[in-house]
Amino acid sequence: MDLEKSLLRKVGEAIRRFSMVRDGDRVAVALSGGKDSATLLEILLLLQKRAPIDFSVCAFTVEQGKFLRPIEPLAEYLKRSGVAWTYYRDAPSLRLLEERPDHGCDLCSRYRRRAVYEIAHGLGANVIAFGHTADDFCEALLRNAMFTGRLSALPPVTASRDREYRLIRPLAFVTEDLTRAYAEARGIPVVPCGCSQKTGTVRRSLRDLFATLERDYPHLKENMISAMGNLDPGRMLDPRFLRLDGAKSPELFPIVTEL
Ligand code: SF4
Repeated sequence: MDLEKSLLRKVGEAIRRFSMVRDGDRVAVALSGGKDSATLLEILLLLQKRAPIDFSVCAFTVEQGKFLRPIEPLAEYLKRSGVAWTYYRDAPSLRLLEERPDHGCDLCSRYRRRAVYEIAHGLGANVIAFGHTADDFCEALLRNAMFTGRLSALPPVTASRDREYRLIRPLAFVTEDLTRAYAEARGIPVVPCGCSQKTGTVRRSLRDLFATLERDYPHLKENMISAMGNLDPGRMLDPRFLRLDGAKSPELFPIVTEL
C-alpha cells in the first residue's frame, strides 16, 4: 500500500542519513502501547527483510501502571506477528505510583530509563529504538525555543550515558497522521497511557497550535523538519557560529531534506 511505501521510504531515509542501524545490530523497539512505536516496529521488521545489512529486531514494553486499557490485545497481536516481545512490570515505577501518585514526568522518565536499559541488557540489544515522530521533533523545537532558551529539538541518534546502547529515533521524518492511518489500517490495538489524556499542559497547547495552523498550512511540520536539517547559523544570535570579522559564515549543514 502507498502508506506503507511512504513509511518505508521515510524510515529508511532516517536510518541511512543518521547511520542508525549497522551490520550485526540487535535493535530493541520500545513499545509504549501507542500507534507510533507499534508502526515503528512493523516498519523495522519490513526493512529488516529488505536491508543489505544483517540485524535483528525485538520489542519490549515497560508497565509503569499508567495504561488505560488491558495490554492483552496488544500481546495477542504481537504473538500473531511472531515478534519477540518482552512485557516488563516495573516494580519500582508501580511503587512510585502508589506512594507519589502526583509525581511529575522527570521522576517517571528516570524510572522508565533505568528499566529500559535493564530490559535491553537482558535482551542482548545494543540499539534501542524509540517511536518519537516528526510531531515530537517539532514540538520539542518550539518548546525548547520558547521555554528553555535553547534552539534544539531531539537527537535522532545518541548514546546512553555509559555508551552501552545506541538510542535511535527512526520516525524523525514521519508525521503522526501517517502512523495513525497505518495503525488503523493494520488493526494494531492501541493501549493509551493515562498521561496522553492530560489537558492544560504545554504539550497539549503546542498540539492545539499545530492543529489550528495546519488547517491552512498542511505541510508545516514537513517544513520544520526540513529546517532542522538546514541550519543557517549566520542568521542567528550565537557568536560561536558567526564570523564577526565580516567574512561569510561557513555553511554547516548544506543538505536540504526532501521528505
Ligand atoms: S507523560 Fe506520564 S508517562 Fe510520560 S513521562 Fe510524564 S508522567 Fe510519565
